Amino acid sequence: MDMQRVPYVSIARAGKTYASPRGAVPALVDITLDIQPGEFVSVVGPSGCGKSTLLKLVAGLEEATAGALQVAGRPLNGPPDNLGVVFQRDVLLDWRTILDNVLLSIEFLGRPRAKYRDGALALLNRFGLGGFEHRFPWELSGGMRQRASICRALLSDPELLLMDEPFGALDAMTRDDLNIELARIWQETRKTLLFITHSIAEAVFLSDRVVMMGKAPGMIVDIIDIDLPRPRSLASRESSEFIRYVSRIRHHFAELGIVKE
Ligand code: ADP
Ligand code: MG
Repeated sequence: MDMQRVPYVSIARAGKTYASPRGAVPALVDITLDIQPGEFVSVVGPSGCGKSTLLKLVAGLEEATAGALQVAGRPLNGPPDNLGVVFQRDVLLDWRTILDNVLLSIEFLGRPRAKYRDGALALLNRFGLGGFEHRFPWELSGGMRQRASICRALLSDPELLLMDEPFGALDAMTRDDLNIELARIWQETRKTLLFITHSIAEAVFLSDRVVMMGKAPGMIVDIIDIDLPRPRSLASRESSEFIRYVSRIRHHFAELGIVKE
C-alpha cells in the first residue's frame, strides 16, 4: 500500500449531537473530509456552525455521535499521539514562566524536560520571544502569548497541528505577522494542519484547501482548492488570483445568507 495516499485525518460521515438540559443540540451533521499528510486545510464558517466541535472531534476531546474518524490510519480512541493544539484563548498558566509553559507539553507526554530545554529556547527565539523565557504570561502582550502557545504546541514536533481561531483575538498587524510566521513554519515542517478561522482572507492565504461550513447545524457546503504559488507573502494578498478566491468564497456565503454582499 502506498502510505502517501493514506489520509492523515479521515472523517467519514461524522456527526455530533450534544445532550443539553434544553434537549439535543445537533452541532455537526454528516461531515466527510480527508486531510492528506502535510496538507494545510482551513475551515471557515459563521459562529456556532460547529467549527470548534469539529476540531475537538479530531483532537479526541469529544466523541462523534455518528460516523467514524481516523488519525494516522487508526480509529480515534481519545487524543491521538503526536498532536499539537492551539486555541483562541491561550491557555498559558499564569504562575509559570514562558519557558515552563512551553515545556508543559513535554511534561504532559511524560518526557524528560531537560532534553527539550534547548529546543524550547530555540523555538522561543524563532518566534521573537528570545529574552522573554523567564517572564510570566501576564507580562506579555496577546500576540506574544499566542506565539508562546504555538511554541508549546510545536515543541514535541507533532505530526498534526490543530488550531482553533488562534489569531482571532489579535490586532490586525499582529495577526498579519503571525500569518506569515505560521506559513513559514508550515512550509519548513510540512505538518498536517487543520486551521479554524472566521477570516476568509486568512484561510485563503494559509491553505491548500478551504472548507466552507454553513449555518448551524454544521455541514460542509463547499471545499475550495487554493492554487496560489508558495511561499506566499503579504503581497500575495494583493494578487488578482488571491482576491478572486476571497470574493468567490464571500459570494457563496452571501448566497447562503451568512454574510451580506
Ligand atoms: P463554532 O466553533 O463554529 O462557533 P461550536 O462547535 O463551538 O461552534 O458549537 C456548535 C454548536 O454546538 C453551538 O450551537 C453550540 O452552542 C453547541 N455546543 C458546543 N459545545 C456544546 C456543549 N458542550 N454542550 C452543548 N452544546 C454545545
Ligand atoms: Mg469556535
